[in-house]
Amino acid sequence: MLKNLFKTIFPDLCIGCNGLLIKNESVLCIHCRHDLPYTQHHKNPNNEALLKFYGIVPIENCFAMLYFHNEGIAKRLMHQLKYKGKQEIGTLLGNMYYPELEDKFKHEDSKTTFEIIPVPLHKKRQKERGYNQVTTFCKALSKGLDITLNETLLIRNHYTKTQTQKNKIARQKINDALFDIVETTSESNKHYILVDDIITTGATLEACAKALLRIPNAKVSIVTMAFTET
Ligand SMILES: [Zn+2]
Repeated sequence: MLKNLFKTIFPDLCIGCNGLLIKNESVLCIHCRHDLPYTQHHKNPNNEALLKFYGIVPIENCFAMLYFHNEGIAKRLMHQLKYKGKQEIGTLLGNMYYPELEDKFKHEDSKTTFEIIPVPLHKKRQKERGYNQVTTFCKALSKGLDITLNETLLIRNHYTKTQTQKNKIARQKINDALFDIVETTSESNKHYILVDDIITTGATLEACAKALLRIPNAKVSIVTMAFTET
């Protein structure tokens, strides 16, 4: 009753067009879902996202769902997800994206096991924000693809403030030291699907992938919600 009254005064609006959402719609109306700037990376194994890592760190597959433009809908979605607590955005995107990835991460080879690994926030930042912005996206992928979500294997070491002043090489050195693997004995022959919100320079994902590839016989793929063309 109260909830209905609240919804009458503050109806749910589409993040894309600000139109009223109808019953059973959340986050985006059907028109905005249809018009999202999809990259179609899953249709091209040698896509622009994979090329970002070419010659730097061996990545099996790299798929970003949406193009991130400066004034676009993907930017609004990422902002609301990251800073406004709208974690249902991650769930929606994960539920929309996993069917495109089903044939990419199939358990064909009985020796290889897939695991979904979120790029971790530092504990302090996660405490400030209350959540990691990739968690709901990871959970939706994990459920849809029937692949275990492992939130404890990869850890972030230090809390860093903005790194914009430092040059690229210095930044990468710091990034490489940022991530570590929690030691385990049963992690060989895993194919890790590393998940983040956006690929911009790729430096964070590069550092995470390098950390995971220290595990014997590990393979790494990357899936993100958005991709910045640079
Ligand atoms: Zn809309």
